[in-house]
Amino acid sequence: MAEDEKGPTLKEQLWDPVAGFGVTFRTMFRKVVTEQYPKEKFPTAPRFHGRHQLNRWPDGLEKCIGCELCAWACPADAIYVEGASNSDAPDPEGNSQRFSPGERYGRVYQINYLRCILCGLCIEACPTRALTMTNEYELADDNRADLIYEKSDLLAPLLPGMEQPPHPMRLGEDADQYYRGEFSAKPAQGGEA
Ligand code: SF4
Ligand code: SF4
Repeated sequence: MAEDEKGPTLKEQLWDPVAGFGVTFRTMFRKVVTEQYPKEKFPTAPRFHGRHQLNRWPDGLEKCIGCELCAWACPADAIYVEGASNSDAPDPEGNSQRFSPGERYGRVYQINYLRCILCGLCIEACPTRALTMTNEYELADDNRADLIYEKSDLLAPLLPGMEQPPHPMRLGEDADQYYRGEFSAKPAQGGEA
């Protein structure tokens, strides 16, 4: 046998198992760090990127204007938007046709969480802060269809003082007053995560 093909020395044969089991024994007496999820849920970091939310103005109208900038910014092609025009003329049943304070609103809005990588580029692209991200991270399901979130799944809940759209603009006589917050009425503030 060549000199460099010699087996382990006696010292190595005796010491290596002791050193290996030493690691095992040390670990046995360390504090257990197993997390008891889902029984115990720990809060995320405040700026954690979780499920998206479509925000509202304080009278309940939607902030989304259907511009599709979020969809174009998405590297995973996870967002689908179809815009439509608001109208102040009532429909044949006499109901308002206004969903957002501007000219356009997002008629269809979908996020596919099978594709989304929660990178946040879409919320950076949104010009109206309509789209933000919550801290909600439980986005698992047992079928693919339920992981495509529709607008109704993503819209912020109605807070006290808000009204379910469609309805006329309640925060001012014109768009200037509305966006500057020169409210003729004082509905509840909020609606944004
Ligand atoms: S978080 Fe990223 S991947 Fe997910 S929808 Fe937004 S841009 Fe697309
Ligand atoms: S969420 Fe923002 S970026 Fe996306 S369509 Fe609506 S307004 Fe445009």
